[in-house]
Amino acid sequence: MRVYLDYNATAPIRAEVLDAMLPYLGERWGNPASRHWFGQGALRAVDAARAEVAALIGARPQEIVFTSGGTEAGNLALLGYMLACDGARRRLVTTVIEHPAILEAANALENFGVPVQRLGADSDGRVNPREAIQALGDDVALISVMLANNDVGTMQPLEAIARAARSRGVGVHTDAVQAVGRVPVDVEALGVDLLSLSAHKLGGPQGVGALYVRSGTRIKPRSHGGAQESGLRAGTLNVAGIVGFGRACALAKSELTDAAFRMAALRDRLERGIRERVAGALRNGPASERLPNTTNLSFEGINGESLLMMLDALGVATSNGSACTAGSANPSHVLLAMGLGHARAASALRFSLGIGTREEEIDFAVDAVVEAVGSLREARP
Ligand code: PLP
Repeated sequence: MRVYLDYNATAPIRAEVLDAMLPYLGERWGNPASRHWFGQGALRAVDAARAEVAALIGARPQEIVFTSGGTEAGNLALLGYMLACDGARRRLVTTVIEHPAILEAANALENFGVPVQRLGADSDGRVNPREAIQALGDDVALISVMLANNDVGTMQPLEAIARAARSRGVGVHTDAVQAVGRVPVDVEALGVDLLSLSAHKLGGPQGVGALYVRSGTRIKPRSHGGAQESGLRAGTLNVAGIVGFGRACALAKSELTDAAFRMAALRDRLERGIRERVAGALRNGPASERLPNTTNLSFEGINGESLLMMLDALGVATSNGSACTAGSANPSHVLLAMGLGHARAASALRFSLGIGTREEEIDFAVDAVVEAVGSLREARP
């Protein structure tokens, strides 16, 4: 048996999504920017997908800008917004627990001379809303706080932060890549101006995503050379990818409540199973107010990388960080920001479930963890 528990890295493409995409990789190959019949057919498909993506997050279709994924959406949000700012508001506020897409975009802005303030997190991986609100001075242009953390699943107190930001004239971006399709996300309820999302975390294809841009928000493009996406993202659209993204969003919208409930029950079964049978297994992150599909556990005295490899050999796929940083020997920056010691952070593994996860897979994974931790502890000098 092979059990996939790394849905936060990517989710398998859903059969319905693939079915919806295939015609656009075959006989329906038009360019949506063309005025003829071939192009207009493709444009209609893109427009339908745009409406489906918008509907999942309570936005209007014209507020959706398709991108190549969450990374590009986050970069467009931060760089595009800050580039459009003039006058006294020049500072960016963000957090130390963001995905590298945002961390590195903020670093790039800093290298261009933009002052950047980075908020810390508490031992649950949660940003303190009071601290965030205090940071919103007259010189702040934008605050970017993720909606749900990819490593530990912690939901951030975004609504309170966004409310304060908007009342002070500060723009708000959230990286909602891990949240969309797993918990209800509504741009009006959140009160954000910009929100990034990605198709491949919710059963859509890799290499496509979107940035929600609230009507009236001033933002400059990062790529030039075409009028696509209202001039905000030049380049021929990935029609098949966008069609798949739309389908994945429509499915997520209709299944969200049931799927979240089921995933949380399986996630709890996994967590309980491991903690009951493995001494020194500790959860990193909160018990509640987190994504229904994610748990992060440390294993006392174990090297997380060795455990990951042994579990893979036993047929269970997990992660010890985001896919973009996995492979590096450093423990997750999120766990370190939560105040975990180096040893505990380096002994951590992330288990992330998806719509396809079954109970027997969870039981198989628990047995594999028990076996792998046992072997690694026996082999210890
Ligand atoms: N933001 C978060 C929180 C993520 O978890 C990821 C992917 O792991 C991204 C952004 C990047 O998205 P994409 O892979 O579509 O570029």
